[in-house]
Amino acid sequence: MATTERTEKRPKVSQLCELCHCRKALIKRPKNLQKICKLCFYDVFETEIHNTIVSNKLFYPGEKVAIGASGGKDSTVLAYVLKLLNERHNYGLNLVLLSIDEGIVGYRDDSLATVKRNQQQYQLPLEIVSYRDLYNWTMDEIVSCAGIRNSCTYCGVFRRQALDRGAAKLGINHVVTGHNADDMAETVLMNLLRGDVARLEKSTAIMTSSSGSPIKRSKPFKYSYQKEIVLYAHYKKLDYFSTECSYAPEAFRGTARELMKNLEAIRPSCIIDIIHSGENFVLKEKKQRQQFRKKPTAKQPVSQEIEVRADGSVSLNSRGFVDGNRCEKCGYLSSNKICKACMLLEGLEVSRAKIRIDNDVSTVGAAKLTRTLESLTF
Ligand code: SF4
Ligand SMILES: [Zn+2]
Ligand SMILES: [Zn+2]
Repeated sequence: MATTERTEKRPKVSQLCELCHCRKALIKRPKNLQKICKLCFYDVFETEIHNTIVSNKLFYPGEKVAIGASGGKDSTVLAYVLKLLNERHNYGLNLVLLSIDEGIVGYRDDSLATVKRNQQQYQLPLEIVSYRDLYNWTMDEIVSCAGIRNSCTYCGVFRRQALDRGAAKLGINHVVTGHNADDMAETVLMNLLRGDVARLEKSTAIMTSSSGSPIKRSKPFKYSYQKEIVLYAHYKKLDYFSTECSYAPEAFRGTARELMKNLEAIRPSCIIDIIHSGENFVLKEKKQRQQFRKKPTAKQPVSQEIEVRADGSVSLNSRGFVDGNRCEKCGYLSSNKICKACMLLEGLEVSRAKIRIDNDVSTVGAAKLTRTLESLTF
């Protein structure tokens, strides 16, 4: 009887993991629809990231690396897996969590609380850099001044510089981020649809840096599917924050995301296929391409270098300056005379001053109205 019970509990051959052939398959891998067990899933997920790190020579022994930590699923899994692989394969890395506080009430304050718990759970040092300290603006103030439409453009430019500054403060010249395969495929699609050739060229790079900049960035999750990151976080019971930012992602990115999700539903490999296509785009020599660019008119004021496109996105154009230059205002490395963050800040200060004047005028108007009413005799 006992033997019969044991036999009954054994999974059918069709239910067995396609990798180890001994445990019951519990997961259908989003990447290739393979049916596998939990342990094999952990193994393939971690091994693929390790292979990406090794084949791209992302790190060197003894390197100090900052993990851009937002408290969300991607960066939480990244911190967990990097710590694990560092110990398992003796990378010899000195890992630190680096968080940015954009100043978004109800979103970033809660997610930073998650990062602080992760710091305890993973026993890693944590540095938090805020927009308020760096720019004297919070994202909430920026949105109330400039509107929600371009919030992610402002936020992206400020975050990039904040991460660099935070890393420099810690004496670190390598920041890893949790950008995954879905993010990268979306970016390729978006740049392709916009005809943004300059960005398309860089959109699949696993490591990026400006010439002369001491800070490099890399994406160890370049080939990791978002759905697999979520599954991993779920089965490992990782502590992450899942609320979306109150300011919706760029409208156009949202459209590219939807398009990609629809394609993925029909053909799961399309995410990797789009990345591989992006990696193999061969663009014309820069000199040739520059001939097709519009020539800038006589010296344009800084504000004219910010261009709002028809789809509502903001373009920050580089005109005539080479990488390695420093911003005349803040000293940050910039291909322009004034860095992108300072250009945006300049525009914001103008809007803030205008709002103040409008408020003053309305106060003066109100006072005048009160005086007029008081002078009226009935
Ligand atoms: S969704 Fe946009 S505004 Fe919100 S944190 Fe991300 S980039 Fe910033
Ligand atoms: Zn298995
Ligand atoms: Zn600057």
